[in-house]
Amino acid sequence: MSDLVEFLLLNLPEEEWDQLDEHQAKRFRYLYQPPDRAGEERSDYREGCASCTKDPSEPGKPAYGTSWIEDWPCRHLCTLAVRYDDQPDFHPWFRERLTLGRQIRP
Ligand SMILES: [Zn+2]
Repeated sequence: MSDLVEFLLLNLPEEEWDQLDEHQAKRFRYLYQPPDRAGEERSDYREGCASCTKDPSEPGKPAYGTSWIEDWPCRHLCTLAVRYDDQPDFHPWFRERLTLGRQIRP
């Protein structure tokens, strides 16, 4: 379990825990072109938020690039954590994740 989920379970009221289920980490497959291999297409996986990621591809087909993937932990979970920034186990990266944008990992 991540530090963030642990922190939220300790601080978030129980009636809001369903947000942790909705915003779980999920592996998304995406396509990309290797910079040194023009015209070639490969696929890879990236961990994103199951709820915040909006997959633009057809069902069962990977989308191109990673810009549509909201990295996990997502900004929604970090926003929940920032409400409790006066707690001793609050990590500064919960807030940094919000200011640095969508492709940042702790
Ligand atoms: Zn999310």
